[in-house]
Amino acid sequence: MSVGLDTRLQFVVGKDAKRLLTALDVRTVGELLTHYPRRYDERGVLSDLSTLSRGAYVTVQARVRSAVNRTYAKAGPDRKGRNPVRTEVVVTDGTGDLQLVFFKQPWRTNALKPGALGLFAGKVGEFNGRPQLLHPECVLLDIPIDGAVETSTETGAGDVLWLTRPIIAVYPTSGRLTSWQIAACTSTALDSLEDIDDPVPEPLRARRGLVDLRTALDGVHRPYTDADHDSARARLRYDEALVTQVVLARLRHRLEGLPALPRKPVPGGLADRFDQRLPFTLTDGQGRVGSQVAADLARNHPMHRLLQGEVGSGKTVVALRAMLQVIDAGGQAALLAPTEVLAQQHHRAVTSMLGDLALGGMLGGAEGATAVGLLTGSLGVAARRQALLAAASGTAGIVVGTHALLEESVQFADLGLVVVDEQHRFGVEQRAALTDRGSVARPHVLVMTATPIPRTVAMTVFGDLDVSVLAELPAGRRPVQTSVVPAAERPTWLERGWQRVREEVAAGRQAYVVCPRIGDGSQTDQQAGDGPEEQSPGHGVLATAEELAGGPLAGVRVGVLHGRLAPDDKDRVMDRFAAGEVDVLVATTVVEVGVDVPNATVMVVMDADRYGLSQLHQLRGRVGRGAEAGLCLLVTEAPPGSPARERLDQVAATTDGFEVSRLDVALRREGDVLGALQSGSRSSLRLLSVVRHEDVIVDARADAAELVAADPALDRHPALARRVAALEQTAAGAFIDKT
Ligand code: ADP
Ligand code: MG
Repeated sequence: MSVGLDTRLQFVVGKDAKRLLTALDVRTVGELLTHYPRRYDERGVLSDLSTLSRGAYVTVQARVRSAVNRTYAKAGPDRKGRNPVRTEVVVTDGTGDLQLVFFKQPWRTNALKPGALGLFAGKVGEFNGRPQLLHPECVLLDIPIDGAVETSTETGAGDVLWLTRPIIAVYPTSGRLTSWQIAACTSTALDSLEDIDDPVPEPLRARRGLVDLRTALDGVHRPYTDADHDSARARLRYDEALVTQVVLARLRHRLEGLPALPRKPVPGGLADRFDQRLPFTLTDGQGRVGSQVAADLARNHPMHRLLQGEVGSGKTVVALRAMLQVIDAGGQAALLAPTEVLAQQHHRAVTSMLGDLALGGMLGGAEGATAVGLLTGSLGVAARRQALLAAASGTAGIVVGTHALLEESVQFADLGLVVVDEQHRFGVEQRAALTDRGSVARPHVLVMTATPIPRTVAMTVFGDLDVSVLAELPAGRRPVQTSVVPAAERPTWLERGWQRVREEVAAGRQAYVVCPRIGDGSQTDQQAGDGPEEQSPGHGVLATAEELAGGPLAGVRVGVLHGRLAPDDKDRVMDRFAAGEVDVLVATTVVEVGVDVPNATVMVVMDADRYGLSQLHQLRGRVGRGAEAGLCLLVTEAPPGSPARERLDQVAATTDGFEVSRLDVALRREGDVLGALQSGSRSSLRLLSVVRHEDVIVDARADAAELVAADPALDRHPALARRVAALEQTAAGAFIDKT
């Protein structure tokens, strides 16, 4: 039988297949060959033994310094009257030593002679305060390069030809198999591999200067030179990027093929009348993105656009103009917000921006005016019925809501546009639920996010969406000044901070104080305080509000906002804050997203080190939204020089959200960045990093677009089609497909 990448391992490595399955969870030749080496050691270059960490499973290259057998009488002689033997071997890296110990294996000294070079693998233990490997696996390397080798070793690994290479691939392993046992199996698999269809078409390989798949697999597992594994990894990294991008390109292609009703601009309609009464001029970005969106809406295929923009860059206006264009063309728009507070605020904002244009069917409504409905989970029965009716009958041109909008019972007369605000809070599934409403024509979709996403992450996670960016803030807006307040070392700085808050309030302005938990003993509280490294539970909203009102902020009107307030109470306190009847709002991060009170100028974030960098950036975006400059104080007890403190200094030093997101992404693990995309049992990205390999992703995206445009079914590229189908079938693919 001919061996290909899909061949099951038992046909190639025999009984080792079972061990590979338990140790590495690999079943096929292809899966084994994507278990890539962790590092490459040069033969004869000894491992640094001073850096071994206790408890880790290590593979080290070292030279034997001494090996002695000692008898030990403690356990008593065996039946033949011999005392048991302990073999103590000391290996060296030239400077430091490591002890290897074997019990009752006196024959070990036959092979482990002083001067012998070998690989030793095991879990780092400790004896008398010094690191030790107990019963390590050993393989000797004193064999001529490319010379004849005896194939029997005490490891039973079989083929050790690979050990004659000048470069030794070291594999990640948990200890059930040694690195060289994996290497031996891999080598056997490579030798038996016959049929190999390269998924990357030859012209693309030539264009990108990539080696073919066979060369790449050989180079990554059995390199002769560093250049071999470098070019191999470059090629295999590109594979990962290409397959992901082809999946996304095909998805875009499918979406583009779906029907949607075109919603062409209507001269003299609501959109035009709204533009005429705007109290400000649109920024260049708003104008540019507005035209892109207007053109998208006029097409007979659904728009799928991601609008990224700094907090305060004016995304809402862009969305509202799009919604009005759809209403002018006879459709309706839904505006989805992640929280009840935000939905209410959007409803207020949209209604007030529209003025009499939103009073359709009411006294004082402008001619042709529409109506704005609100649908949230906390509506009373009567209000809910009315909102449902307005959506179903079409009298509400705009329906604002939370996920309650996604329920089956919510019907629209003619839903033409779905705007999703602050995407990062929304499940992709939920987005799918709204756009997939059974009707033949799909609504257009505009997703807005204020969390700037690095380009490569956007390309990978939102690769099905066209991306627009609002880069600049409206004219006259001054960036928020951010300072770190080290509360432990400099208590007077915090006092001065509260003084600043009092001054702002005295000048008629307002402030937020953000705390990491509510402090009412609820579960969110406990979770917040339960982190492994957290010593104290952190400031609670309730206690902080009380303390401030009775001390540093005495005489100031202090309000409280958090997620466990009854919806009516939330609404009331937000209304009072918006109306200026509350001076200082002490809140959890419910204020993080989209809350817009232009008169608020100061934000004090307590225990700032507990938040992600992007989250801090979001938070500070809540101040300085009016004419006055904003100030953000990041209060922390993290000691100077600690990583937490450095992160805060970095956020304070930049006002650029994209820079913050780059910092944030660099700090997080790849899997966190990609989230659900990587939730499949076997991640599809091994060598490719969305953080580090932007150029590869950009190239692959262009190539994928070209391939799919010319051959959407990939009929001419069967090998690529198989890889793409495999990814589409994984959890990751399922995720992508639902967006
Ligand atoms: P985002 O949702 O992007 O954070 P918003 O749409 O809420 O920003 O806009 C923030 C504030 O800026 C709002 O009060 C809005 O009315 C105002 N605004 C929007 N566009 C402009 C503009 N071109 N010039 C001046 N102010 C603007
Ligand atoms: Mg907003």
